[in-house]
Amino acid sequence: MLEDFLTLLFPEHCIGCNKTGSALCAICERSITVKAHALGTTVATLFDYQNPLVKRALWALKYHRKRSLGKYFGIALYREFFKSVAQGNTRPKEAIVLVPVPSGKRALRLRGYNHSGVIAAAIVQAAKADGLVLELEANMLFKKRENEQQVEARTKTKRSENVAHVFGVRTGERIAGKTVVLVDDVITTGATIAEAKRALSEWKPRRILTVAVAH
Ligand SMILES: [Zn+2]
Repeated sequence: MLEDFLTLLFPEHCIGCNKTGSALCAICERSITVKAHALGTTVATLFDYQNPLVKRALWALKYHRKRSLGKYFGIALYREFFKSVAQGNTRPKEAIVLVPVPSGKRALRLRGYNHSGVIAAAIVQAAKADGLVLELEANMLFKKRENEQQVEARTKTKRSENVAHVFGVRTGERIAGKTVVLVDDVITTGATIAEAKRALSEWKPRRILTVAVAH
């Protein structure tokens, strides 16, 4: 509600062409083509991070409070990776739990929200509209300490060291025997995801998959 009020007070501008109305106008949206990509058998990404508009949209979601772009990405991820499950008769018997990769405390304070959490919530909402119930554990994974931004850590070794044991797990018993889907914004080396999986796997989920907006 407050968000709607603020949109009326400060109308959104398209991050691509600056047109008033929404954070991403229909014309610019069409220039972001879906490029679904699998990284191994358990990780899927949707857009090419080299697309300047994708990069700008993720930046605006993270640093300019453009939460609506998180919803846009969540719906896009749902359509590509979950919709067929919702419509088919191949629904998994065990529950599917979405776990967003968390932001650090500093970023949370600045931003007021975890951007991957906004994306995950939009996936859950879109699924609900199709009658598919996905569980959301928005705060299950948390950062135990502040680490450098992964993009700042130059080498692959540095990136692994940077995220080593960075994540803690709350109420991990809730994922036992279930399918967990990690939700992230950008995957570069996969070091963050590997570390998140390591932390969650101690709670014996059936499997851990990952969806990310871009690669
Ligand atoms: Zn535009």
